[in-house]
Amino acid sequence: MKILVINSGSSSIKYQLLDMDTDAVLVTGLVERIGDENGSLTNKVFPGTNEQSVTKMEKAIPDHDTGMRLAIELIIDPEKGVIKDMAEINAVGHRVVHGGEDFHQPTIITDEVIVAIEANIPLAPLHNPANLDGIRVAMELFPGVPQVAVFDTAFHQTIPAHAYMYALPYELYEKDRVRRYGFHGTSHKFVAGECAHLLNKKLDDLNCISVHLGNGCSMTAVKNGKSVDTSLGMTPLEGLVMGTRSGDVDPAIHTFLSRNKGMDIEMIDAMLNKESGLKGLCGMNDMRDIHAGIEKGDERAKLALDVQTYRNRKYIGAYMAVLGRVDAIVFTAGIGENDDIVRRESVRGLECFGVKIDEAVNAQRAKEPLRISTADSSVQVWVIPTNEELAIARETRFVLNGNQ
Ligand code: AMP
Repeated sequence: MKILVINSGSSSIKYQLLDMDTDAVLVTGLVERIGDENGSLTNKVFPGTNEQSVTKMEKAIPDHDTGMRLAIELIIDPEKGVIKDMAEINAVGHRVVHGGEDFHQPTIITDEVIVAIEANIPLAPLHNPANLDGIRVAMELFPGVPQVAVFDTAFHQTIPAHAYMYALPYELYEKDRVRRYGFHGTSHKFVAGECAHLLNKKLDDLNCISVHLGNGCSMTAVKNGKSVDTSLGMTPLEGLVMGTRSGDVDPAIHTFLSRNKGMDIEMIDAMLNKESGLKGLCGMNDMRDIHAGIEKGDERAKLALDVQTYRNRKYIGAYMAVLGRVDAIVFTAGIGENDDIVRRESVRGLECFGVKIDEAVNAQRAKEPLRISTADSSVQVWVIPTNEELAIARETRFVLNGNQ
């Protein structure tokens, strides 16, 4: 079975074609700067296990439809393509950021599902319209092929009310659906599944803390295989310190900025989302640059690292209290998979809770899952690479197989 995975953003489309009989990636691609004069498309075809053939194109790509059509031409190119005919694609899986309270599972896309995704636009005004662009284009390009929506929020729909409610006037929840939804659900679910497998446990028996540290960061408490709390909130701004997003701040800072600095709500929103986090603290949002800065004695870079890892530690402690028994802490995504210093600092001082890492193993680089805790650590600590495209393809297959 071949599944095309589409992650459509406001000015970009990321896509991947996978052979789900072997989990092999056949094609990966990225269309960028859609709607701009300087559009670009990079398409990588994997004809053998490690070889890849890359096509790069620079041209104006006026809309998502043009971008997706260019990509499809490369995928079925008679010389460089991996498939001969579009009919070989059995299904298309779409990443959809916000499913609100409507979607607890990946879902076959119908007209009603599109209406429900549209109804959730107020909760994700930047993401859901862009995801819908990808869906509409793919439905036109692949008529009759099943299209499946995989929601970032779905895994977190098991979070109980005491963890998803904000202590605000109740009508805001009843009328406007103001509550915690959480994001990165596909990634958290994927690493929890991999973790259960590695610990030789049934997913239903696994309690773990999944720590997704990339440009966006979030942490999830998983109890008996289900999400019971997560750090991102109604929007992807709450919780951990991210590349450019603040994470938790005192909500009264908004009022302070408005009254004393004359900032309006749009300015404050842009500041919290785009100019805060690691970037706000030290001017850099990539953890590799921050380490280079620390090497050169940049004290603000060190402060940014300390603020992020302290927040991680605080949330790990909170989720240990939420879960009681913790089988594993799992680090994933760009920083979680690659940065041994962030991992070490994020669990520093947790020895009294049975968390001990082996620093030599932690310093190793691995593309495969790696256990970095000592043999006598009562909580195992793992690095497990996430793979959101494979996770979306697996969810799509699950829906096609009648949720089995
Ligand atoms: P992601 O959003 O999962 O793609 O992660 C992107 C982020 O991972 C980048 O902004 C970097 O901060 C971080 N990152 C990627 N590679 C490394 C690395 N080798 N060491 C430290 N951080 C890294």
